[in-house]
Amino acid sequence: MDVAQRGTGFQHTTQPKAGTEPLWYRFAAQKRTSEASVVMSAAVAAGSSYPPHLTDAEQDNLVLTIKDWSIGNGLAIRPPPAVIPANADPAGIAAINAPVTLFPSPFPRICFEQGKAVQRTYNDLYAAVSRDEEFLAQIVKESDYMVHQDASTSPPSLTAKQVEFNTIASSFGGLSCFTSRLHRLALNLTSEALKLTPEYPLLDKAIPAGSLDLPESTAVQGLAAGIEAAFNTYPPSELGHSKCIIFLVQGDERNVFDQRHLEYQIASSSPGAPVFRLAFSDILTHTTVADTPKRQLLYRLPRNPEKVFEVAVIYMRAGYGPGDYPNQQAWDARYQLERSAAIKCPSVLTQLAGTKKVQQVLATPRPSTAPSMLGRFIKDDTPAAGELWKTFTNIYPMDTSEAGLEARKKALDPEACQAYVLKPQREGGGNNIYRGAIPAFLKSVPEEHWGSFILMELITPPPVSNIILRNGTIEQGGVICELGVYGTCLWNQSSGEVLRNEEAGYLLRTKGDKSEEGGVAAGYGCMDSCSLV
Ligand code: ADP
Ligand code: MG
Repeated sequence: MDVAQRGTGFQHTTQPKAGTEPLWYRFAAQKRTSEASVVMSAAVAAGSSYPPHLTDAEQDNLVLTIKDWSIGNGLAIRPPPAVIPANADPAGIAAINAPVTLFPSPFPRICFEQGKAVQRTYNDLYAAVSRDEEFLAQIVKESDYMVHQDASTSPPSLTAKQVEFNTIASSFGGLSCFTSRLHRLALNLTSEALKLTPEYPLLDKAIPAGSLDLPESTAVQGLAAGIEAAFNTYPPSELGHSKCIIFLVQGDERNVFDQRHLEYQIASSSPGAPVFRLAFSDILTHTTVADTPKRQLLYRLPRNPEKVFEVAVIYMRAGYGPGDYPNQQAWDARYQLERSAAIKCPSVLTQLAGTKKVQQVLATPRPSTAPSMLGRFIKDDTPAAGELWKTFTNIYPMDTSEAGLEARKKALDPEACQAYVLKPQREGGGNNIYRGAIPAFLKSVPEEHWGSFILMELITPPPVSNIILRNGTIEQGGVICELGVYGTCLWNQSSGEVLRNEEAGYLLRTKGDKSEEGGVAAGYGCMDSCSLV
């Protein structure tokens, strides 16, 4: 879906004017990603190579341990048809290991801390953008980071640079906790951690426990706590129903265990908050909006429609791509959720705030005399705002503005384009055009559509080495790591009061350095965790 199509769709789902909505709270689970360039690995410091060289027997043993631990603990996905064809698993019972690195990748501590420290300021920023309908109407939140190595300084400087900010369907929080746990156990490589007998250490030369700094990911707890806070903020049902949380999902989701971990966490920490999974295509079948001034969203249990719940929170893991909106009914369904009193994670406005176009408008360099776009949303002369600025990479419009025409020149030039990635207004991986492919791609697209793209400077992380276990096979070599920092934010849409603003754990995604896309589900990347260096 390009900008024009998305614009049409969202115009249809006209947002009630701020101030007239029945319930004022908005909730967004957000993730930013940065990519860290790393020049030193933990084991270099220890005087050996990292990851350690493995004998065949050691590798087999480690792979077996990881395979069993992953399924035993739910670090798993439903198999792609290329691995287990649908006709070999007609009942849909198969699950396989999520692709994962054998070892945690070295990641610069300074960038890790930078990414975490700036998350709450980003939450404030995107809450403010979400409340600015006028701004969003003019230009029609996960924020992702890569570590950028500036080779022009000596030694090269490392900064976490934002790749994007996702405000809808920020995924892999569930699996990231288990990946960091797996690496902590496997790398301790002590019989104690794995409850093995001392004769069976995993490596001949075990990495000493405690020699690596392996931060735990707390994304499951952090994201669940955000959803629970929204649930508790929603008032008791005046209609006499029990409240519930809806996980809005895609019908054919393969990354279902990632979502289930969040659900299980909510069930154990807030047993009074029932969670139901609802496929996007079933919204109109199982929900209605009460004919009251408050417009409560009512969910009828599919197996017993007499049983009615009032939906307090809708957590969306669907509704971000064109595939979810095949017909008018799908738009009507989204409109129904939007006009209801349920707390939306995200609302349409918050989803729009998370578009790449908004990121570009915030990050396009401007003359020092021109006022900053950031200033429209947060105080831009504070130390916190200064930290935000540091995470920005130059991003340019591709429209017919002065900056856009300048960017078009760069994008069409076979030399200049090598430093850029061209992005459409899409989510979910696999849509970007890189470097030398940009000019020919643009020439294949009608010029009147160019304005829907943004042109972003490439972040250039130095490669790290690691070993990836994917679909039962081993891939070894140079990898690039991308840090995702999660945040949750609950605010009053009408007053702007922020009721809750938390950083909520991390994700490290790693891909081969020859691949240019990082999504694990898209088959390009894999789960990883940080070894801080
Ligand atoms: P999507 O919505 O498809 O996830 P992203 O903006 O996150 O879009 O881009 C997908 C992937 O492309 C990222 O995860 C990252 O690996 C790579 N990428 C995106 N922007 C850049 C950049 N400026 N420099 C280097 N790699 C990038
Ligand atoms: Mg992304």
